[in-house]
Amino acid sequence: MDRSAYIQETYHCEDEVLQAIRADIAARKMPPISVQPELGRLLTLLVATSGASRVLEIGVLGGYSGVCLARGLRPGGRMTSLELSSAYAEVARANLARAGLSELVEYRVGPAATSLSELVRAQERFDFIFIDADKVNYPVYLDAAFKLATPGALLCADNALLHDAVCDSQVQTPEALAMRSFNHRLAHEQGVVSVLLPVHDGFAVARIGGV
Ligand code: SAH
Ligand code: MG
Repeated sequence: MDRSAYIQETYHCEDEVLQAIRADIAARKMPPISVQPELGRLLTLLVATSGASRVLEIGVLGGYSGVCLARGLRPGGRMTSLELSSAYAEVARANLARAGLSELVEYRVGPAATSLSELVRAQERFDFIFIDADKVNYPVYLDAAFKLATPGALLCADNALLHDAVCDSQVQTPEALAMRSFNHRLAHEQGVVSVLLPVHDGFAVARIGGV
């Protein structure tokens, strides 16, 4: 048994709701790129532990991470979820409804960069931000996150290792350059405490300001 199988077996960490979402995504032939079960758990745990009441999700797919994030919200908390594809947002909406969480979520369809500019203009603030959309725009999303974060907000980002492309200096694709820039900035920005966990495809966790 490999370590991933061991963790799955020990935790049974995907309950029926999450299993159904993963199955729904597969049945619809959407890409199998939802966060892995233990990262989903980590999202719930981090939202709950941080006491977040305003969560921002960038990259929705079928609502798997959305359910995990929304489950951690404190009573009265709300989530705003940004997704390019209206079809995916509809799938997620239905899956959040089945999980009994749809009241907590507002979907904004379109390029996340545009939605983020609107949120900045409206002076919205979030105490938990999860980035998991198109990789080339991670630096753009980070800029917006700094403007939208409350002092001490938590920021998480999936795929920060980009299948190890970031580690190979020969790789000069726009995605690799963007992710290296994202990681470097998160590691060195003044007032940010951060860690890049080498879990799955790399999971960055950062506390923005407030220190
Ligand atoms: N966080 C999800 C998985 C997201 S997959 C989960 O773990 O359940 C990446 C998502 O980002 C896809 O749904 C894709 O449609 C979306 N996406 C890609 N480019 C985007 C953009 N420019 N703006 C907003 N969403 C985008
Ligand atoms: Mg991802």
